[in-house]
Amino acid sequence: METDLIVEDTSFFGLMIKDKLKAETAFEAIWVRSMTEAVAVLDEAGNNFFAAILDFNLPDAPHGEIVDEVVARHIPVIVFTSDLSEEVRELVWSKNVADYALKDDSQSLDYIISMLNRIRKNAGIKVLAVDDSMLFRKILTDLLKIHRYNVLIACNGVEALEVLEKHPDVKLVITDFSMPEMDGFTLTRKIRERYNKNQLAIIGISSEGKNLLAARFIKSGANDFIIKQSFLTEEFYSRVTQNIENLEHIQMLKDASVKDFLTGLYNRRYFFDVGQKLFANAARKNLTLGCAMVDIDHFKKVNDIYGHEAGDLALCHVSSILKNRMRESDIVARVGGEEFCILAVNINAENPGELFEELRRKVAEYPIDIGGQSIKVAVSIGVATELASSLDDMVCHADKLLYKAKNSGRNQVIISGE
Ligand code: GH3
Ligand code: MG
Ligand code: MG
Repeated sequence: METDLIVEDTSFFGLMIKDKLKAETAFEAIWVRSMTEAVAVLDEAGNNFFAAILDFNLPDAPHGEIVDEVVARHIPVIVFTSDLSEEVRELVWSKNVADYALKDDSQSLDYIISMLNRIRKNAGIKVLAVDDSMLFRKILTDLLKIHRYNVLIACNGVEALEVLEKHPDVKLVITDFSMPEMDGFTLTRKIRERYNKNQLAIIGISSEGKNLLAARFIKSGANDFIIKQSFLTEEFYSRVTQNIENLEHIQMLKDASVKDFLTGLYNRRYFFDVGQKLFANAARKNLTLGCAMVDIDHFKKVNDIYGHEAGDLALCHVSSILKNRMRESDIVARVGGEEFCILAVNINAENPGELFEELRRKVAEYPIDIGGQSIKVAVSIGVATELASSLDDMVCHADKLLYKAKNSGRNQVIISGE
C-alpha cells in the first residue's frame, strides 16, 4: 500500500493531518516529529513513500533542511508552514517542492488532500514537453516529474507529432514557439486537426516581451501560455493543474451522460447509440455478434431480506464480473434495475454459449461481502446470436430467451438455436 510521510513537531498539527489522511484517503500515513526520526524512517523504508508533508521549521532542522533531505530522495514534498513571508515562499519553491500550504488557513488540510489526490492521479496522465533547447526540456521534465506526471519529450513539432501518433492518450502538450523543422504554431494547428480542446490541452511557451506570440498561440488553438523567461513555478503548476482538471471535468460530464452512476456501466442510451454502430459494422463485415440479456434472479428478495444497500452492493458485484470478463470492444450496459445487456463482437461461433456460461458460473460462485456477511446471487441469461434485421430485434430476441431461462428454473443460459 502507498504511504505518505508526515514530519511535524507540533502534536496538534501532526495529529490533525494524520487523522485527515486516514479519514479521507485510502492510504497509510506515518507521522514523525523530527528530521532525525524522518531520516531513520526513510532509510528503513528505502524511500518508498508516495509523498511527504513536511513542517518547514523543526527543532533539529530550523531552516527547511528536511525539505532538501526528502526532495533528494525523489519524493514529492508538500511544505506545511506558518510563515507567510515572501523570502520563505521563494526559498520553499527554490527547493523543488510540489506545493506548500499554510498552517493558519482553515482550508489548508483540504488543500493538502486534494493535492495528494492530484499527484496520485498524475501518474496515469501523459504530458508531452516540446522544446529544441535541451536545458528547457529538462526544466519542464523535472517540474512535471515532481508532480509525478508521465512525461514524454520531443525536440520539435515533427517529433512531437510522431510521439502523439504512438501515444494518442497524451492529455497535455507544452510547446515552445521557435523550433527547427516545425514551429509551435504549426504544431498546435496540426494537433487541433485531430484533437479538440475537450480531448487534449496545449500550453504554448512564448518569450518575454512578445505578447503577440501568446495571443497567436491562443488563436492557433492553445488553451494557455507561459512566458519562458519569467514564469514562476507556482504559476506553472497552477496552469498545468487547471488545464488537466478542465479536461477531467469535461470527461466527468461525458461519463455522466453515458454511464450509470451506481455501477459505472454504460446506460441504456449509450447501449443503443453505440450498439447500432457495432451492429452495422458486424452486418457489413459478416462478423459474429452475441447479444445477451442478463437479469439477477429473485433480486427483490435480496433487497427485502438484506436491505437496499446490500442490493446495491450485489448490483456492483455482478456489474464488475460482467465488465471484467468482456473485452473493451464489447458493450456492457445496465439497461434496467437489475437487468444488463451485453453486445459482444466476434464471439466464438463454434461455441457461443461458452462465454455466457462462464459469466453465469462466476456470478453464482463468487460470494458478495455485504458488511461482514456474505451472500450469493445468480443470474439468468438469454443470448441471441443470429444477426437480426436490427439491434432492437436482437435485443427483443435475447429478452424472450431470458424469459425462457427464468421459466425453466433460473440460474441458466439459453442461447438462440439450441
Ligand atoms: P426474477 O428472478 O424474476 O428476475 O425476480 P426479481 O426479484 O429479480 O425481479 P423483480 O423485477 O420482481 O424485482 C427487481 C427488483 O430490483 C425490484 C427493485 O426494487 C430492485 N431494484 C431495481 N433497481 C435497484 C437498485 O438500483 N438498487 C437496488 N438495491 N435494488 C434495485
Ligand atoms: Mg430479476
Ligand atoms: Mg427484472
